[in-house]
Amino acid sequence: MDKELRKKLLAWFEKNGRHNYPWRQSTNLYYIFLSEIMLQQTQINRVASNYFPRFIKRFPSIVDLANASLDDVLALWSGLGYYNRAQNLHKSAQIIVSQKAFPTTFEALKKLPGVGKYTASAILAFGLNYPIVVIDSNIKRLYFRLFATTSMQNVQQKAQKLLDKCYPKKYNLALMDIGATICLPKNPTCLLCPLQHFCKGKDNIPAFTQTKSQKKEEKELFFSIFLKKNQIALIKSKEKLYNNLLVLPPSKEKRNYLASFTHSYTKYKLNVHLYEGIEEDQSFIWYDLKNIENAPIASLTKKALQALKLI
Ligand code: SF4
Repeated sequence: MDKELRKKLLAWFEKNGRHNYPWRQSTNLYYIFLSEIMLQQTQINRVASNYFPRFIKRFPSIVDLANASLDDVLALWSGLGYYNRAQNLHKSAQIIVSQKAFPTTFEALKKLPGVGKYTASAILAFGLNYPIVVIDSNIKRLYFRLFATTSMQNVQQKAQKLLDKCYPKKYNLALMDIGATICLPKNPTCLLCPLQHFCKGKDNIPAFTQTKSQKKEEKELFFSIFLKKNQIALIKSKEKLYNNLLVLPPSKEKRNYLASFTHSYTKYKLNVHLYEGIEEDQSFIWYDLKNIENAPIASLTKKALQALKLI
């Protein structure tokens, strides 16, 4: 039965898999590592069409990335959110370069900053065709339904038994693609699924589907706008949310209101209010508005400048 399932899965993948993503056409571990970090929390098409090609153009090798300044890395990451990923990626590149070799064991990969169980297993399976079970959120949902369970322990055991040890890369990618395109959170198209015949949960999908609370936490943010000869005052953020990025200075006085807008970021709904700046501070970094696109700023800051028609 398992053999038959694997055969069906691989045949489906050859014909229907998403083969065109640049990192899937490569065995370069740096590309695979970079793509996996970018894909944490970001839609695959955004990464493939924009951020990934831009990044490898600017930093073609892990050595180039390790030698870059953090500001340059953050500037290129701008708009992708979850900026800790960029910092960890940069740190990891420096560690790998100093060790003179890319780690190729699960334990060694897990020691890199920002690399968890999923990322380590994905690098091993997709970069080295190593026989390891990979479980991202799409595969997890698919496994729950396929095995008719909601227990992760159960999934781990069954997935280990089912794993295709000859073609682990294709096997895991096939599951990932079915999870992302067919076994969707709502209304999976079971009729198109190559696993339909083997799926124990297909007749009671809600029982094997975890639902996440979508409610975002609301926050009020107040910023000051200081302008001088086509330059804007920014400061280096110390907030965990925007650590090391340049942001607008906070508004303490809240005088001379300029504009408001809302912005969604990770689990937050941010209500942002902009005021005219009153008192300059020594920590200000004056940035030319003409070059602001190249600055390590968050999309919230960009949105504020757009709200004020400054860019
Ligand atoms: S048959 Fe349906 S529920 Fe089962 S794995 Fe396929 S798409 Fe998911």
